[in-house]
Parts: sequence; structure tokens; C-alpha cells
Amino acid sequence: MFISFEGIDGSGKSTQARMLADRLRQAGHDVVLTREPGGAPGAEEIRRLLVEGDPGRWSPETEILLFTAARRDHLERTIRPALAAGQVVISDRFADSTRVYQGATRGDLRGTVDALHSLMIGMEPDVTIVMDMDPAHALSRGLARDTTEDRFEAMGLGFQQKLAAGFAALSQDAPDRCIPVSAEGSQDAVAARIWDAVDSHLRQ
Ligand code: C5P
Repeated sequence: MFISFEGIDGSGKSTQARMLADRLRQAGHDVVLTREPGGAPGAEEIRRLLVEGDPGRWSPETEILLFTAARRDHLERTIRPALAAGQVVISDRFADSTRVYQGATRGDLRGTVDALHSLMIGMEPDVTIVMDMDPAHALSRGLARDTTEDRFEAMGLGFQQKLAAGFAALSQDAPDRCIPVSAEGSQDAVAARIWDAVDSHLRQ
């Protein structure tokens, strides 16, 4: 089973992915917790090329190629072997992030993102938890963390709002696998909502 977490920066994805991994392990599952961009040694090298440095370092098209290259490596080295071994894979971001970030925030490149996805990746998670949080709230939480090495997080409220709308639209386009979950409230309250969603999906 392959579960991804998606949502805007500061919405608590990483914490909740970790909490879900712990809970599934307690329930007896063998879990691989991973992330994008990254999740394999080569993909982590590509992550550094992506998140560090000048905001204008890459053209929008080159950026899509780099994210897709990182995802392909992640898929080959980490995700597919784990799924083949019967493990549960939880990834903090997957292809939906590229659809929203690279597909819609620097011009309309969704067609390019989709074409590369079908050529090079060709798979979707079984379940995608889409963290739903007010963009202003997420931004203030994101700014409170140390993000000095991440060039993407200095983009401001308008950018976050655009992303939030992108994730909401995506959840509506793929209701069979996307589960929007309110990310407001305590960590435990959010974790309980996510557990309910995943548990009922596991029972289907
Ligand atoms: O989720 P995480 O903080 O690890 O992601 C690193 C940075 O890359 C974030 O600021 C995120 O917004 C950005 N990103 C992106 N496009 C993606 C995935 C992540 O711009 N497809």
C-alpha cells in the first residue's frame, strides 16, 4: 500500500506522516517513511540542486525535469522495492506536488507535467491525504521554522493561496484516492482524522 501526504508548506505533512507511520507500525505493519523531493541517495542529491540556491536558478521546464528525475530515482530505488516486499510506503509529497507547484505556479505547464509523469512515473498512490489548512496560518507556521536553506518558502501569501486552491482542485479531480483532511487543531486531533481516513480505506 502506497500513501502520500500533500499540501502547502507549513500544513504539518511531515509530522503527520511520521505519526501515521508510528501508528501503522504499532498495528503490525512494516512501514517505509520517505519524502520528496528525495527519498533515495540520488534523489536527495537532486533535492539539494532544487531547494538550495537562487530562486531563479532553473527555468520552469528544467525544474520539472529535475523533480521528475528525482521521483524516478525514488520510485526505482525506494518505492517499488518496498511495495514489492509487502511494505507500506508513506511519502511526504509525491506527484501531486509537481502538478500543483510546477504545473500551475510558473505559468500553465500542467500538460508538460502530465506528459512526463505518464512517460516516466506512471503510477499513483493508493491513498493521498491532502492537508487542508488556511494559507495564512500555514505561512505563519512555515516562517516560524528554520527554512533558510529552502528557496521555495520565501514566496508569500499569494503564492500559498494559489497552491491551496491547486491542491483543493486536485482532490476534486481524483476523489477515488484523495482524502482532504482538515489540518487545523492539535497534532493529535489531526492524527485521529487521518487515522480514521486511512483505516476506513484499509477496510474497503
Ligand atoms: O516538503 P518539503 O519542505 O520537503 O519540500 C521542499 C521544498 O520544495 C518546499 O518548499 C516545497 O514547497 C518545494 N516543492 C516544490 N515542488 C515540488 C515539491 C516540493 O516546489 N514538487
